[in-house]
Amino acid sequence: MTIEIAPGALLPIALIFGLLIGSFLNVVIHRVPLEQSVVFPASHCPGCDAPIKAWDNIPILSYLWLRGRCRGCEAAISLRYPAIELLTGLLFTAIAWRFGPTWWTSAYCLFAAGLVAAAMIDHDHQIIPDSISLGGLAVALLIIPAIHAHYGEAWLDALVRASGGALVGSGVLWLVAFLHARVSVLMGRQFEHWPGEGEELPKPTEADYWLWFPGLGLGDVKLLGMIGAVVGPAGVLDTILASSVVGLILGGTQALARGALGRPFGFAPAIAVGTVAVLFLPPLWLLRVL
Ligand SMILES: [Zn+2]
Repeated sequence: MTIEIAPGALLPIALIFGLLIGSFLNVVIHRVPLEQSVVFPASHCPGCDAPIKAWDNIPILSYLWLRGRCRGCEAAISLRYPAIELLTGLLFTAIAWRFGPTWWTSAYCLFAAGLVAAAMIDHDHQIIPDSISLGGLAVALLIIPAIHAHYGEAWLDALVRASGGALVGSGVLWLVAFLHARVSVLMGRQFEHWPGEGEELPKPTEADYWLWFPGLGLGDVKLLGMIGAVVGPAGVLDTILASSVVGLILGGTQALARGALGRPFGFAPAIAVGTVAVLFLPPLWLLRVL
């Protein structure tokens, strides 16, 4: 069964919906890491604190007709806001084009929105909020098997596969982070924030030995759990490979641009790009290519 929709209406609806969700994601990206409500208060200008009126809050268009400035104080509005709106709009359109009028389009759009938020928050703060990674995992374990069941697969099989994907995704990333930490210690590598100033490296009897790593964080491990629940065990292996390739490119470019190799950067943007690539490609494409 598919969702009833007039032919030709799907892509425009996905675009408009994506632009609106992108506008909401701007609020999420800004407020969730500060542990503020995403509902209250309504958006206001960071320059003059004036509340932003509904007609000045239309995705992309408002930015264009206000020429990127606040109506009250003329403070410049970051180009990032319309960019996130456009990105989300285009992602939703692409997903709708790829998966058609099915429940998969709704689920993957929701999933992509979570990835955009996680990527940008990780980029800004080098953290991935649990509300997105673990919240997304809980939602995925509910809706992904339900959609498989709706399209005729045994619900339990689909649930086992989603849970397996979460375990494989988290497990592989945890193993990489853990081994990286241990090898770094053996080789005497130094990190700015690991351990903290004047702190000792954790011992195997301490939880931190197993859960606290330089570079890759537990946030990435949890995020890969959520992704694994959505794309399944094989898909999440593809995702990790694709993300690593993207991460090398992004990290290298960033390091060259800043002129500083080895400075910390969030891995979630690379994971998000890798995951979207995997959504659009046949299963195990990377494993087959390599
Ligand atoms: Zn203002």
